[in-house]
Amino acid sequence: MDGVCMKKLRNLPAIDQLMADQRFLNLLKTTLISKRVLTEWLKEQAEFMRQRIINNEFSDRVLDKEQLTDHILDSLNRKINALSQNNLRRVINATGVVLHTNLGRARLSERAIKQIEEVASSYSTLEYSLATGKRGSRHDLVEDYLKEVTDAEAAMVVNNNAAAVYLVLRALAFEKEVIVSRGELIEIGGSFRISEIMKESQAQLIDIGTTNKTHLRDYEKAITEDTALLMKVHKSNFKLIGFTEEVNTEELVDLSRKSNIPIYEDLGSGTLFDFKTKQIGDEPTVQDKVAAGIDIISFSGDKLLGGPQAGIIVGKKKYIEAMKSHQLARVLRVDKFTLAGLEATLKSYASGQEISEVPTVRDIAETKETILKRGQFFVDQMIDQDTGFSFTLSEGKSKVGGGTMPEVEIDTYLVKVSHTRYSSEEIAKLLRKCDVPIIVRVQHDTVTLDFRTIHQKEISELVDAFFKIKG
Ligand SMILES: *Cc1c(COP(=O)(O)O)cnc(C)c1O
Repeated sequence: MDGVCMKKLRNLPAIDQLMADQRFLNLLKTTLISKRVLTEWLKEQAEFMRQRIINNEFSDRVLDKEQLTDHILDSLNRKINALSQNNLRRVINATGVVLHTNLGRARLSERAIKQIEEVASSYSTLEYSLATGKRGSRHDLVEDYLKEVTDAEAAMVVNNNAAAVYLVLRALAFEKEVIVSRGELIEIGGSFRISEIMKESQAQLIDIGTTNKTHLRDYEKAITEDTALLMKVHKSNFKLIGFTEEVNTEELVDLSRKSNIPIYEDLGSGTLFDFKTKQIGDEPTVQDKVAAGIDIISFSGDKLLGGPQAGIIVGKKKYIEAMKSHQLARVLRVDKFTLAGLEATLKSYASGQEISEVPTVRDIAETKETILKRGQFFVDQMIDQDTGFSFTLSEGKSKVGGGTMPEVEIDTYLVKVSHTRYSSEEIAKLLRKCDVPIIVRVQHDTVTLDFRTIHQKEISELVDAFFKIKG
Protein backbone atom coordinates (compact mmCIF):
# COMPACT_ATOMS: atom_id res chain seq x y z
CA MET A 1 0.00 0.00 0.00
CA ASP A 2 1.46 3.33 -0.99
CA GLY A 3 1.37 6.54 0.97
CA VAL A 4 -1.48 8.09 -1.02
CA CYS A 5 -3.64 5.09 -0.37
CA MET A 6 -2.86 5.25 3.34
CA LYS A 7 -3.92 8.85 3.35
CA LYS A 8 -7.19 8.04 1.62
CA LEU A 9 -7.90 5.27 4.11
CA ARG A 10 -7.33 7.63 6.96
CA ASN A 11 -10.39 9.60 5.81
CA LEU A 12 -12.70 6.60 6.30
CA PRO A 13 -15.13 7.43 9.13
CA ALA A 14 -15.09 5.15 12.17
CA ILE A 15 -18.12 2.94 12.80
CA ASP A 16 -19.20 4.86 15.91
CA GLN A 17 -19.00 8.10 13.93
CA LEU A 18 -21.23 6.58 11.26
CA MET A 19 -23.62 5.31 13.90
CA ALA A 20 -23.90 8.78 15.41
CA ASP A 21 -24.84 10.26 12.03
CA GLN A 22 -28.40 11.60 12.04
CA ARG A 23 -29.21 9.66 8.85
CA PHE A 24 -28.32 6.35 10.49
CA LEU A 25 -30.36 7.28 13.56
CA ASN A 26 -33.30 8.05 11.29
CA LEU A 27 -33.00 4.67 9.59
CA LEU A 28 -33.09 3.02 13.01
CA LYS A 29 -36.33 4.82 13.72
CA THR A 30 -38.09 4.48 10.36
CA THR A 31 -37.18 0.95 9.25
CA LEU A 32 -38.27 -2.10 11.18
CA ILE A 33 -34.76 -3.50 11.10
CA SER A 34 -33.08 -4.23 14.45
CA LYS A 35 -30.11 -2.19 15.62
CA ARG A 36 -27.90 -5.30 15.58
CA VAL A 37 -28.65 -6.06 11.91
CA LEU A 38 -28.50 -2.46 10.78
CA THR A 39 -25.08 -2.03 12.48
CA GLU A 40 -23.83 -5.20 10.76
CA TRP A 41 -24.90 -3.81 7.42
CA LEU A 42 -23.27 -0.48 8.14
CA LYS A 43 -20.00 -2.25 8.93
CA GLU A 44 -20.35 -4.26 5.76
CA GLN A 45 -20.79 -1.11 3.65
CA ALA A 46 -17.84 0.59 5.38
CA GLU A 47 -15.67 -2.43 4.72
CA PHE A 48 -16.86 -2.44 1.13
CA MET A 49 -15.72 1.18 0.78
CA ARG A 50 -12.33 0.33 2.34
CA GLN A 51 -11.83 -2.38 -0.29
CA ARG A 52 -12.75 0.02 -3.08
CA ILE A 53 -10.09 2.46 -1.89
CA ILE A 54 -7.48 -0.29 -1.64
CA ASN A 55 -8.43 -1.41 -5.16
CA ASN A 56 -7.68 2.12 -6.26
CA GLU A 57 -11.15 2.82 -7.60
CA PHE A 58 -10.82 6.50 -6.74
CA SER A 59 -7.36 6.92 -8.27
CA ASP A 60 -8.08 10.40 -9.58
CA ARG A 61 -9.28 12.00 -6.35
CA VAL A 62 -9.06 11.95 -2.60
CA LEU A 63 -12.49 11.71 -0.95
CA ASP A 64 -12.82 13.54 2.33
CA LYS A 65 -14.51 12.10 5.38
CA GLU A 66 -17.83 13.73 4.61
CA GLN A 67 -17.96 12.34 1.06
CA LEU A 68 -17.04 8.87 2.27
CA THR A 69 -19.76 9.04 4.90
CA ASP A 70 -22.28 10.02 2.20
CA HIS A 71 -21.18 7.10 0.02
CA ILE A 72 -21.45 4.55 2.81
CA LEU A 73 -24.85 5.73 4.00
CA ASP A 74 -26.13 5.84 0.42
CA SER A 75 -25.17 2.25 -0.20
CA LEU A 76 -26.76 1.26 3.12
CA ASN A 77 -29.95 2.94 1.90
CA ARG A 78 -29.84 1.05 -1.38
CA LYS A 79 -29.47 -2.23 0.49
CA ILE A 80 -32.52 -1.41 2.64
CA ASN A 81 -34.57 -0.44 -0.43
CA ALA A 82 -33.67 -3.67 -2.21
CA LEU A 83 -34.88 -5.58 0.84
CA SER A 84 -38.27 -3.92 0.71
CA GLN A 85 -38.83 -5.38 -2.75
CA ASN A 86 -39.49 -9.10 -3.18
CA ASN A 87 -37.60 -11.20 -5.67
CA LEU A 88 -40.76 -13.12 -6.48
CA ARG A 89 -43.10 -10.29 -7.42
CA ARG A 90 -46.43 -9.70 -9.01
CA VAL A 91 -46.25 -8.54 -12.64
CA ILE A 92 -48.83 -7.52 -15.21
CA ASN A 93 -48.82 -9.98 -18.10
CA ALA A 94 -49.53 -7.96 -21.24
CA THR A 95 -48.30 -10.69 -23.59
CA GLY A 96 -51.71 -12.31 -24.04
CA VAL A 97 -50.06 -15.70 -23.37
CA VAL A 98 -52.49 -17.13 -20.81
CA LEU A 99 -50.19 -19.91 -19.53
CA HIS A 100 -46.83 -18.14 -19.53
CA THR A 101 -44.46 -20.62 -17.86
CA ASN A 102 -41.89 -17.92 -17.00
CA LEU A 103 -44.62 -15.78 -15.44
CA GLY A 104 -45.95 -18.54 -13.21
CA ARG A 105 -48.48 -20.27 -15.49
CA ALA A 106 -52.05 -20.33 -14.15
CA ARG A 107 -53.54 -17.41 -12.24
CA LEU A 108 -55.67 -18.93 -9.47
CA SER A 109 -59.38 -18.44 -8.91
CA GLU A 110 -60.73 -16.26 -6.08
CA ARG A 111 -62.10 -19.42 -4.52
CA ALA A 112 -58.67 -21.07 -4.57
CA ILE A 113 -56.90 -18.02 -3.14
CA LYS A 114 -59.40 -17.76 -0.31
CA GLN A 115 -58.98 -21.44 0.51
CA ILE A 116 -55.17 -21.23 0.49
CA GLU A 117 -55.25 -18.18 2.75
CA GLU A 118 -57.53 -19.94 5.22
CA VAL A 119 -55.39 -23.07 5.38
CA ALA A 120 -52.15 -21.04 5.59
CA SER A 121 -53.25 -19.00 8.56
CA SER A 122 -54.76 -21.78 10.68
CA TYR A 123 -54.42 -25.42 11.60
CA SER A 124 -56.27 -27.68 9.16
CA THR A 125 -57.56 -31.20 8.51
CA LEU A 126 -54.53 -32.02 6.32
CA GLU A 127 -54.16 -35.52 7.74
CA TYR A 128 -56.94 -35.63 10.28
CA SER A 129 -60.33 -37.28 10.02
CA LEU A 130 -63.04 -35.29 11.77
CA ALA A 131 -65.31 -38.39 11.63
CA THR A 132 -63.01 -40.66 13.63
CA GLY A 133 -60.85 -38.13 15.44
CA LYS A 134 -57.86 -40.08 14.18
CA ARG A 135 -55.24 -39.74 11.49
CA GLY A 136 -56.60 -39.20 7.98
CA SER A 137 -54.94 -39.28 4.57
CA ARG A 138 -54.05 -36.22 2.54
CA HIS A 139 -54.77 -38.26 -0.59
CA ASP A 140 -58.46 -38.28 0.34
CA LEU A 141 -58.78 -34.49 0.27
CA VAL A 142 -59.15 -34.16 -3.49
CA GLU A 143 -59.61 -37.73 -4.73
CA ASP A 144 -63.41 -37.69 -4.72
CA TYR A 145 -63.53 -34.46 -6.75
CA LEU A 146 -61.03 -35.83 -9.24
CA LYS A 147 -63.08 -39.01 -9.59
CA GLU A 148 -66.22 -37.01 -10.05
CA VAL A 149 -64.92 -34.66 -12.74
CA THR A 150 -62.95 -37.28 -14.69
CA ASP A 151 -65.06 -40.42 -14.07
CA ALA A 152 -61.90 -42.34 -13.15
CA GLU A 153 -61.89 -45.10 -10.49
CA ALA A 154 -59.14 -43.50 -8.44
CA ALA A 155 -56.79 -40.51 -8.35
CA MET A 156 -53.76 -39.06 -6.60
CA VAL A 157 -51.70 -35.87 -6.68
CA VAL A 158 -47.94 -35.30 -6.72
CA ASN A 159 -45.67 -32.29 -7.05
CA ASN A 160 -45.91 -31.73 -10.81
CA ASN A 161 -46.53 -33.72 -13.95
CA ALA A 162 -42.83 -34.49 -14.40
CA ALA A 163 -42.95 -36.15 -10.96
CA ALA A 164 -46.12 -37.99 -11.98
CA VAL A 165 -44.41 -39.46 -15.07
CA TYR A 166 -41.48 -40.53 -12.92
CA LEU A 167 -43.70 -42.14 -10.28
CA VAL A 168 -45.77 -44.06 -12.84
CA LEU A 169 -42.67 -45.45 -14.54
CA ARG A 170 -40.84 -46.24 -11.31
CA ALA A 171 -43.79 -47.83 -9.52
CA LEU A 172 -45.23 -49.75 -12.47
CA ALA A 173 -42.30 -50.44 -14.79
CA PHE A 174 -39.11 -50.63 -12.67
CA GLU A 175 -36.57 -52.75 -14.59
CA LYS A 176 -39.28 -53.64 -17.08
CA GLU A 177 -39.95 -52.52 -20.63
CA VAL A 178 -42.09 -49.58 -21.68
CA ILE A 179 -43.14 -49.26 -25.31
CA VAL A 180 -43.29 -45.72 -26.74
CA SER A 181 -43.63 -44.48 -30.31
CA ARG A 182 -40.50 -42.69 -31.53
CA GLY A 183 -42.70 -39.78 -32.67
CA GLU A 184 -43.64 -39.17 -29.03
CA LEU A 185 -40.18 -39.09 -27.46
CA ILE A 186 -40.52 -35.41 -26.78
CA GLU A 187 -38.62 -32.79 -24.88
CA ILE A 188 -40.57 -30.05 -23.16
CA GLY A 189 -39.35 -26.75 -21.70
CA GLY A 190 -36.88 -26.89 -18.84
CA SER A 191 -35.10 -29.88 -20.42
CA PHE A 192 -37.57 -32.58 -19.44
CA ARG A 193 -37.12 -35.49 -21.85
CA ILE A 194 -39.24 -38.61 -21.85
CA SER A 195 -36.16 -40.71 -22.70
CA GLU A 196 -34.15 -39.24 -19.80
CA ILE A 197 -36.90 -39.55 -17.21
CA MET A 198 -37.30 -43.15 -18.31
CA LYS A 199 -33.61 -43.79 -17.69
CA GLU A 200 -33.83 -42.18 -14.25
CA SER A 201 -36.79 -44.36 -13.32
CA GLN A 202 -34.92 -47.48 -14.45
CA ALA A 203 -37.67 -48.49 -16.80
CA GLN A 204 -36.36 -49.66 -20.15
CA LEU A 205 -37.46 -47.62 -23.10
CA ILE A 206 -38.49 -49.63 -26.16
CA ASP A 207 -38.95 -47.04 -28.89
CA ILE A 208 -40.85 -48.20 -31.92
CA GLY A 209 -41.81 -46.92 -35.36
CA THR A 210 -40.22 -43.85 -36.93
CA THR A 211 -40.40 -40.14 -36.22
CA ASN A 212 -43.35 -39.60 -38.52
CA LYS A 213 -45.09 -43.00 -38.59
CA THR A 214 -45.89 -45.68 -36.07
CA HIS A 215 -48.27 -48.58 -36.83
CA LEU A 216 -50.22 -50.92 -34.60
CA ARG A 217 -48.01 -53.81 -35.77
CA ASP A 218 -44.97 -51.94 -34.37
CA TYR A 219 -46.53 -52.13 -30.90
CA GLU A 220 -47.58 -55.76 -31.37
CA LYS A 221 -44.11 -56.85 -32.41
CA ALA A 222 -42.42 -55.06 -29.49
CA ILE A 223 -44.44 -56.79 -26.76
CA THR A 224 -42.45 -59.34 -24.75
CA GLU A 225 -42.98 -60.95 -21.36
CA ASP A 226 -40.96 -58.08 -19.87
CA THR A 227 -43.33 -55.40 -21.14
CA ALA A 228 -44.84 -53.48 -18.21
CA LEU A 229 -46.56 -50.57 -19.97
CA LEU A 230 -47.71 -49.22 -23.28
CA MET A 231 -47.09 -45.49 -23.06
CA LYS A 232 -48.58 -42.61 -25.03
CA VAL A 233 -47.21 -39.09 -24.72
CA HIS A 234 -49.44 -36.24 -25.76
CA LYS A 235 -47.57 -34.03 -28.20
CA SER A 236 -48.71 -30.92 -26.39
CA ASN A 237 -45.97 -28.51 -27.43
CA PHE A 238 -45.60 -29.25 -31.15
CA LYS A 239 -47.56 -30.61 -34.06
CA LEU A 240 -46.29 -33.05 -36.64
CA ILE A 241 -47.76 -32.37 -40.04
CA GLY A 242 -47.47 -33.99 -43.47
CA PHE A 243 -46.86 -37.71 -44.05
CA THR A 244 -47.64 -38.96 -40.57
CA GLU A 245 -49.45 -41.77 -38.87
CA GLU A 246 -50.04 -42.72 -35.29
CA VAL A 247 -52.09 -45.47 -33.73
CA ASN A 248 -55.39 -44.20 -32.37
CA THR A 249 -56.43 -44.61 -28.77
CA GLU A 250 -59.10 -47.20 -29.53
CA GLU A 251 -56.69 -49.59 -31.26
CA LEU A 252 -54.11 -49.21 -28.51
CA VAL A 253 -56.65 -49.83 -25.75
CA ASP A 254 -57.76 -52.87 -27.68
CA LEU A 255 -54.18 -54.16 -27.87
CA SER A 256 -53.70 -53.40 -24.18
CA ARG A 257 -56.75 -55.52 -23.28
CA LYS A 258 -55.74 -58.42 -25.54
CA SER A 259 -52.15 -58.51 -24.29
CA ASN A 260 -53.08 -57.72 -20.69
CA ILE A 261 -50.58 -54.87 -20.51
CA PRO A 262 -51.79 -51.59 -18.99
CA ILE A 263 -51.72 -48.43 -21.06
CA TYR A 264 -50.51 -45.10 -19.67
CA GLU A 265 -50.90 -41.70 -21.27
CA ASP A 266 -48.93 -38.61 -20.27
CA LEU A 267 -51.50 -36.04 -21.30
CA GLY A 268 -49.33 -33.03 -20.42
CA SER A 269 -51.76 -30.15 -20.36
CA GLY A 270 -54.79 -32.27 -19.48
CA THR A 271 -57.92 -30.19 -19.79
CA LEU A 272 -61.19 -30.89 -17.99
CA PHE A 273 -63.01 -28.20 -19.96
CA ASP A 274 -63.76 -29.03 -23.59
CA PHE A 275 -62.31 -26.04 -25.46
CA LYS A 276 -63.60 -27.54 -28.73
CA THR A 277 -67.05 -26.35 -27.69
CA LYS A 278 -65.65 -22.81 -28.03
CA GLN A 279 -64.00 -23.63 -31.37
CA ILE A 280 -60.57 -23.48 -29.74
CA GLY A 281 -58.07 -26.23 -30.67
CA ASP A 282 -58.70 -29.97 -30.67
CA GLU A 283 -57.34 -30.90 -27.25
CA PRO A 284 -58.90 -34.13 -25.90
CA THR A 285 -60.31 -33.89 -22.38
CA VAL A 286 -59.18 -36.10 -19.51
CA GLN A 287 -62.74 -37.47 -19.34
CA ASP A 288 -62.51 -38.54 -23.02
CA LYS A 289 -59.33 -40.48 -22.27
CA VAL A 290 -60.80 -42.18 -19.21
CA ALA A 291 -63.91 -43.14 -21.20
CA ALA A 292 -61.73 -44.50 -23.99
CA GLY A 293 -60.23 -46.97 -21.49
CA ILE A 294 -56.73 -45.60 -20.85
CA ASP A 295 -55.67 -47.25 -17.55
CA ILE A 296 -53.48 -44.47 -16.17
CA ILE A 297 -53.46 -40.79 -17.16
CA SER A 298 -51.25 -38.01 -15.82
CA PHE A 299 -51.46 -34.25 -16.38
CA SER A 300 -50.44 -30.90 -14.90
CA GLY A 301 -52.45 -28.95 -12.33
CA ASP A 302 -51.26 -25.54 -13.54
CA LYS A 303 -51.68 -25.83 -17.29
CA LEU A 304 -55.16 -25.88 -18.86
CA LEU A 305 -56.76 -26.98 -15.58
CA GLY A 306 -55.88 -23.56 -14.16
CA GLY A 307 -54.94 -24.67 -10.64
CA PRO A 308 -51.75 -24.72 -8.55
CA GLN A 309 -48.59 -26.54 -9.66
CA ALA A 310 -49.32 -30.26 -9.31
CA GLY A 311 -49.16 -33.56 -11.14
CA ILE A 312 -52.48 -35.37 -11.22
CA ILE A 313 -52.71 -39.09 -11.85
CA VAL A 314 -56.10 -40.71 -12.49
CA GLY A 315 -57.01 -44.23 -13.53
CA LYS A 316 -57.70 -47.79 -12.42
CA LYS A 317 -57.76 -48.28 -8.69
CA LYS A 318 -55.19 -51.08 -8.54
CA TYR A 319 -52.51 -48.97 -10.26
CA ILE A 320 -53.26 -45.84 -8.24
CA GLU A 321 -53.12 -47.89 -5.01
CA ALA A 322 -49.74 -49.32 -6.03
CA MET A 323 -48.42 -45.79 -6.54
CA LYS A 324 -49.91 -44.40 -3.32
CA SER A 325 -48.13 -47.06 -1.31
CA HIS A 326 -44.79 -46.60 -3.10
CA GLN A 327 -42.01 -44.90 -1.07
CA LEU A 328 -41.68 -42.25 -3.77
CA ALA A 329 -45.22 -41.05 -3.15
CA ARG A 330 -43.93 -39.58 0.10
CA VAL A 331 -40.97 -37.97 -1.63
CA LEU A 332 -43.16 -36.38 -4.29
CA ARG A 333 -46.10 -35.40 -2.10
CA VAL A 334 -47.71 -31.98 -2.26
CA ASP A 335 -48.19 -29.51 0.56
CA LYS A 336 -51.39 -28.19 2.12
CA PHE A 337 -51.44 -25.02 -0.01
CA THR A 338 -51.48 -27.04 -3.21
CA LEU A 339 -54.24 -29.27 -1.90
CA ALA A 340 -56.28 -26.28 -0.75
CA GLY A 341 -55.93 -24.54 -4.11
CA LEU A 342 -56.59 -27.69 -6.06
CA GLU A 343 -59.69 -28.65 -4.08
CA ALA A 344 -61.18 -25.20 -4.62
CA THR A 345 -60.35 -25.26 -8.35
CA LEU A 346 -61.88 -28.72 -8.78
CA LYS A 347 -65.04 -27.53 -7.01
CA SER A 348 -65.50 -24.93 -9.75
CA TYR A 349 -65.47 -27.76 -12.31
CA ALA A 350 -67.69 -30.03 -10.22
CA SER A 351 -70.31 -27.28 -10.05
CA GLY A 352 -69.99 -26.33 -13.73
CA GLN A 353 -68.64 -22.86 -12.90
CA GLU A 354 -65.20 -23.16 -14.48
CA ILE A 355 -65.79 -20.67 -17.26
CA SER A 356 -66.77 -17.91 -14.88
CA GLU A 357 -64.52 -18.84 -11.95
CA VAL A 358 -61.24 -20.32 -13.25
CA PRO A 359 -59.15 -17.49 -14.78
CA THR A 360 -57.27 -19.80 -17.18
CA VAL A 361 -60.46 -21.19 -18.71
CA ARG A 362 -62.14 -17.79 -18.71
CA ASP A 363 -59.18 -16.00 -20.34
CA ILE A 364 -58.68 -18.61 -23.08
CA ALA A 365 -62.39 -18.62 -23.87
CA GLU A 366 -62.74 -14.81 -23.66
CA THR A 367 -64.26 -13.30 -26.80
CA LYS A 368 -62.44 -10.58 -28.71
CA GLU A 369 -65.38 -8.23 -28.14
CA THR A 370 -64.84 -8.29 -24.36
CA ILE A 371 -61.11 -7.84 -24.89
CA LEU A 372 -61.80 -4.87 -27.17
CA LYS A 373 -63.78 -3.21 -24.36
CA ARG A 374 -60.82 -3.45 -21.98
CA GLY A 375 -58.40 -2.17 -24.63
CA GLN A 376 -60.72 0.69 -25.47
CA PHE A 377 -61.13 1.58 -21.78
CA PHE A 378 -57.34 1.89 -21.51
CA VAL A 379 -56.88 3.86 -24.73
CA ASP A 380 -59.67 6.30 -23.77
CA GLN A 381 -57.72 7.28 -20.66
CA MET A 382 -54.45 7.78 -22.53
CA ILE A 383 -55.63 9.57 -25.61
CA ASP A 384 -54.96 13.33 -25.89
CA GLN A 385 -52.75 13.18 -22.79
CA ASP A 386 -49.46 14.78 -23.59
CA THR A 387 -47.30 11.71 -22.86
CA GLY A 388 -45.32 11.34 -26.08
CA PHE A 389 -46.92 7.93 -26.49
CA SER A 390 -49.39 6.98 -29.16
CA PHE A 391 -51.74 4.03 -28.94
CA THR A 392 -53.51 2.14 -31.74
CA LEU A 393 -56.09 -0.56 -31.31
CA SER A 394 -55.98 -3.41 -33.83
CA GLU A 395 -57.09 -7.01 -34.23
CA GLY A 396 -54.49 -9.67 -33.46
CA LYS A 397 -53.89 -13.20 -32.20
CA SER A 398 -53.13 -14.62 -28.74
CA LYS A 399 -51.36 -17.86 -27.89
CA VAL A 400 -52.38 -20.19 -25.07
CA GLY A 401 -48.77 -20.98 -24.01
CA GLY A 402 -47.41 -23.33 -21.36
CA GLY A 403 -46.56 -25.79 -24.12
CA THR A 404 -50.24 -26.34 -24.87
CA MET A 405 -52.19 -26.07 -28.11
CA PRO A 406 -49.10 -24.93 -30.07
CA GLU A 407 -50.91 -24.35 -33.37
CA VAL A 408 -53.86 -22.50 -31.88
CA GLU A 409 -54.19 -18.74 -32.33
CA ILE A 410 -57.15 -17.02 -30.71
CA ASP A 411 -58.62 -13.77 -32.02
CA THR A 412 -57.89 -10.84 -29.77
CA TYR A 413 -57.42 -7.07 -29.72
CA LEU A 414 -54.02 -5.48 -29.29
CA VAL A 415 -52.95 -2.00 -28.38
CA LYS A 416 -49.82 -0.99 -30.29
CA VAL A 417 -47.63 1.50 -28.47
CA SER A 418 -45.05 3.89 -29.84
CA HIS A 419 -43.26 6.95 -28.51
CA THR A 420 -41.85 10.08 -30.07
CA ARG A 421 -38.37 9.39 -28.64
CA TYR A 422 -38.15 5.90 -27.17
CA SER A 423 -37.51 2.78 -29.25
CA SER A 424 -39.74 -0.24 -28.67
CA GLU A 425 -36.97 -2.00 -26.70
CA GLU A 426 -36.61 1.08 -24.49
CA ILE A 427 -40.35 1.20 -23.86
CA ALA A 428 -40.37 -2.51 -22.94
CA LYS A 429 -37.46 -1.96 -20.55
CA LEU A 430 -39.07 1.06 -18.87
CA LEU A 431 -42.28 -0.92 -18.39
CA ARG A 432 -40.33 -3.76 -16.75
CA LYS A 433 -38.88 -1.27 -14.27
CA CYS A 434 -42.26 -0.03 -13.01
CA ASP A 435 -43.41 -0.61 -9.40
CA VAL A 436 -45.64 -3.33 -10.78
CA PRO A 437 -43.54 -4.51 -13.74
CA ILE A 438 -45.39 -4.81 -17.03
CA ILE A 439 -44.30 -7.54 -19.42
CA VAL A 440 -45.12 -6.87 -23.06
CA ARG A 441 -44.69 -8.44 -26.47
CA VAL A 442 -42.36 -6.70 -28.91
CA GLN A 443 -43.54 -7.73 -32.37
CA HIS A 444 -42.08 -6.42 -35.62
CA ASP A 445 -40.30 -3.77 -33.58
CA THR A 446 -43.58 -2.62 -32.02
CA VAL A 447 -44.64 -2.84 -28.38
CA THR A 448 -48.02 -4.55 -28.18
CA LEU A 449 -50.33 -4.96 -25.20
CA ASP A 450 -52.71 -7.92 -25.50
CA PHE A 451 -55.70 -7.26 -23.27
CA ARG A 452 -56.60 -10.98 -23.08
CA THR A 453 -54.36 -11.33 -20.02
CA ILE A 454 -54.82 -7.84 -18.58
CA HIS A 455 -57.43 -7.77 -15.86
CA GLN A 456 -59.92 -4.89 -15.70
CA LYS A 457 -58.55 -3.95 -12.27
CA GLU A 458 -54.97 -3.86 -13.61
CA ILE A 459 -55.80 -1.15 -16.15
CA SER A 460 -55.45 1.75 -13.69
CA GLU A 461 -51.94 0.53 -12.83
CA LEU A 462 -51.15 0.35 -16.53
CA VAL A 463 -52.35 3.94 -17.00
CA ASP A 464 -50.26 5.12 -14.02
CA ALA A 465 -47.18 3.37 -15.41
CA PHE A 466 -47.41 5.10 -18.78
CA PHE A 467 -47.82 8.49 -17.11
CA LYS A 468 -44.78 7.81 -14.91
CA ILE A 469 -42.43 6.79 -17.71
CA LYS A 470 -43.53 9.38 -20.24
CA GLY A 471 -40.15 11.03 -19.65
C1 LIG B 1 -45.89 -29.98 -19.42
C2 LIG B 1 -45.67 -31.42 -19.66
C3 LIG B 1 -44.99 -32.21 -18.70
C4 LIG B 1 -44.43 -31.63 -17.42
O1 LIG B 1 -45.42 -31.14 -16.61
P1 LIG B 1 -45.04 -30.20 -15.35
O2 LIG B 1 -46.32 -30.09 -14.61
O3 LIG B 1 -44.54 -28.92 -15.92
O4 LIG B 1 -44.00 -30.91 -14.58
C5 LIG B 1 -44.83 -33.55 -18.97
N1 LIG B 1 -45.29 -34.09 -20.11
C6 LIG B 1 -45.95 -33.36 -21.06
C7 LIG B 1 -46.44 -34.04 -22.29
C8 LIG B 1 -46.15 -32.01 -20.86
O5 LIG B 1 -46.79 -31.27 -21.78
